[in-house]
Amino acid sequence: MNLSEFIFKLETLKAQLDIPLLIRAYQFSEKAHSGQMRKSGDPFLYHGLETGVILAEQNLDSATLAASLIHDVVEDTIVTLDQIKAEFGQEIAELVDGVTKIGELQFKSAEEGQVEYFRKLLVSMARDIRVILIKLADRLHNMRTLQHLAPEKIHRIAQETLDIYAPLAHRLGMGKIKEELEELSFRYLEPQTYQELEQKIKASKTERESLIKEVADVLKKELEKAGVKAEITGRAKHLYSTYQKIKRQNVPLEKIYDLMAIRILVENDKDCYQTLSVIHNLWEPIPERFRNYIDQPKNNLYQALHTTVIVPGRQWVEIQIRTQQMHQAAEYGIAAHWLYKEGKKQPDPLDKRLAWIKELLEMQKELKNPAEFLEYLKLDLFQEDIYVFTPKGDLRQLPLGSTPLDFAFAVHTDIGYHCRGAKVNGKMVPLTTTLKNGDKVEILTSSHQIPHQDWLKIVKTSRAKTRIKQWLKQKETQKTAVTGKKNGKR
Ligand code: MN
Repeated sequence: MNLSEFIFKLETLKAQLDIPLLIRAYQFSEKAHSGQMRKSGDPFLYHGLETGVILAEQNLDSATLAASLIHDVVEDTIVTLDQIKAEFGQEIAELVDGVTKIGELQFKSAEEGQVEYFRKLLVSMARDIRVILIKLADRLHNMRTLQHLAPEKIHRIAQETLDIYAPLAHRLGMGKIKEELEELSFRYLEPQTYQELEQKIKASKTERESLIKEVADVLKKELEKAGVKAEITGRAKHLYSTYQKIKRQNVPLEKIYDLMAIRILVENDKDCYQTLSVIHNLWEPIPERFRNYIDQPKNNLYQALHTTVIVPGRQWVEIQIRTQQMHQAAEYGIAAHWLYKEGKKQPDPLDKRLAWIKELLEMQKELKNPAEFLEYLKLDLFQEDIYVFTPKGDLRQLPLGSTPLDFAFAVHTDIGYHCRGAKVNGKMVPLTTTLKNGDKVEILTSSHQIPHQDWLKIVKTSRAKTRIKQWLKQKETQKTAVTGKKNGKR
């Protein structure tokens, strides 16, 4: 890619770019990396360019794109940060500095190293979320060209991508990047399984595609009749998510019915619901599989309606309904923020996804033990959510697998501490019950009730776990103090 090809590419991806700035960044990088090659044999310059293209696809602003072009300059050449600051100013220099600092960290298998790594990632994210967006794009391009590295390096990088970068992308709502990172990691970590799955899916592809087309054709006609303007597409589910489903449900691929999904894009919320009713009039829905993520967005702010219906031939088809705006949010996540607003530097500080980063940083201060923080992070990064109701009808979001005890701690720490029982949908249940979407949960408390060691086995959320541990630890200290006194020791 030469300069004019690069600029042309960026311009087709995003309007309103600061082209003179990007030309300067291109030339600066070309000069700094002059003579350096990637393992693939490509000039080093290309890596920055490809990283920039990925970020332009994600709508990022000119400063981020410029920084991405020169993101490895400080780490890999004799150019200093001061030179970058002199040439491009404070904002771009800070972005490059953030990316360089993350790059300096070696992700170690030792828990201590992992936690330190995460902590630095969080700190840089909290300062300027664009640093992590550059890092994600950088990682995506490295994953695309991973085959040129030594096997043990491939394994380490692919594992790290699956453990850290894909979940981070997911948490920031960047569905497109997350899926590609997962597919690539899966391909490198389990090449044989990947290929087998790919081939099996290919074998039944034609059959499946014709089914999807049939369904889509019927839908199109009915939606037109209903006066709903809709864009209907069929898409294959990703291999990694299919693989996860096979493992989770412990069933063979042949028993996984929804290898393909239909996606319907409409103009507004009202049309989403109207489309849903058209679908449910045509085919029988499977109630347990219905999800209303419009009323109850996921914690990464994902919104859509999901329904699975049985079409002729007893086949299951999953259908996702969303507006264009919800679609952009699902694909670009936090980056959708830069879609129409060149020059705006940070997303709304009230953005839940940014608040999450700040919350993690707080938690990190509280949990001094690295192993505990790591456990918290993993829980927090990977969990899917369910939604349950308080007796007053307020909605609470909890991780999948949560119990009434988690709910109690989510409402208030004291309610958790004194929880002696729970009613779900009006009936008394054991505290070990797993809550389901839509459950109405009521907690019974007693001032005599206190936390018990066994509770740690019941709760699923890191919040509840932490609180219970704190309580037990405090109790322990008090006890030692009392026995100490009894024995006359001080
Ligand atoms: Mn890089």
